[in-house]
Amino acid sequence: MDCSAPKSVDWSTVAIVGVGLIGGSLALALKRAGLATRTVGVSKPQTIKDALDLGVLDAGGPYDELPRLVKDAGVIFLCTPILRIIELLPGVGMAAAPGTVISDVGSTKTAVVRAAHEAIRSDVTFIGGHPMAGSEESGVRAADPFLFQNAMYVLTPVPGTPEPLLSSFAHGVSRLGARVVVLPAEVHDRIAAAVSHLPQLLALALVELITDRAREQSAHLEMAAGGFRDMTRIASSPYRMWRDILQTNAPEIRDALVAFRDRLDALERDLADLEAHFQKANETRASIPKDSKGFITPICDVLVRCRDKPGVLARMTAALADAGVNIMDIELLKVREGEGGTFRVSFRDDQTAREAIRLLKGSGFEARRR
Ligand code: NAP
Repeated sequence: MDCSAPKSVDWSTVAIVGVGLIGGSLALALKRAGLATRTVGVSKPQTIKDALDLGVLDAGGPYDELPRLVKDAGVIFLCTPILRIIELLPGVGMAAAPGTVISDVGSTKTAVVRAAHEAIRSDVTFIGGHPMAGSEESGVRAADPFLFQNAMYVLTPVPGTPEPLLSSFAHGVSRLGARVVVLPAEVHDRIAAAVSHLPQLLALALVELITDRAREQSAHLEMAAGGFRDMTRIASSPYRMWRDILQTNAPEIRDALVAFRDRLDALERDLADLEAHFQKANETRASIPKDSKGFITPICDVLVRCRDKPGVLARMTAALADAGVNIMDIELLKVREGEGGTFRVSFRDDQTAREAIRLLKGSGFEARRR
């Protein structure tokens, strides 16, 4: 650690390397929060042109001009796919001015943090990051200044990261509307393997199984509704999103697969009487924070039924806004043509959710906790 390290982050100029969905969204969100006064991008020429046209960046240039483009930045975010982040780290580390904070947004952390520890000079600080926000779209055209609102944002410092600088960086990230959690990179990756990467592979396995069986009997696909659809929604994710994640977290994912195979064996063994398994799973499931966005930090959901009438959503949100109740997230779950629909509306805590139910019922809506 360099004892002369600054105690707070200089956000005035921020460089974004890889101006896609996450990088572009960061540039927009940093400006909107009033943190960055200037955003500079490093990407392919066409991406930079698009980003400038869309007002996502103030300036930018191609990868071969990276040293010139990032040298004045107080913060540099690496926002390319994970393996490319690892490739870029030494060059970015060399080009950064003393006192700069370098961060990344890769969905796995151990490999990146290890590479940063080896590549980054002691007068520059690396703080790994994983914003748990995304969309099915990609590229700068999908950039959204509100992407990080209410999303969990995991920070994974390297050994020796100065505490004041970490706090200052975390405070900045929280100004984007994100909920910051600091975890060691290995802990992040072990949790991510179990709660994100394993479910992705299980969804694939289930769909593969039904694909094979459907060759013998096509009704398999027709009958694969309800639970099957719920469990396999993520099987529609593109491989290009997952390739680097699977490659950089392979040991933890393998570990999770082995543990899962044991669970399957136990289910097969006890098939005649699975009551104890159901009971244990029911209890654990009930203790998981209801539909936390990202993992760990809970938010509280309320289901609201609305009639199919013009202006009904405005009336619902006004009932809450007039009383100063803040909505953290809102999603339309079901629409019944001509009848109406059900919204999932999320609030910060239990007390706010109760107050929201009281207000909504007072305005004639059917509302209940999820
Ligand atoms: P994206 O929209 O595809 O943006 C990535 C950008 O990186 C591209 O616009 C591309 O810009 C640049 N890039 C440089 N080298 C590349 C390469 N070899 N292949 C593809 N693109 C390359 O992707 P994203 O969703 O923003 O993801 C970026 C990072 O965020 C990844 O590390 C991912 O793990 C992480 N992340 C994603 C999500 C999510 O849900 N999307 C959530 C959390 C974290 P140029 O063509 O101009 O070089």
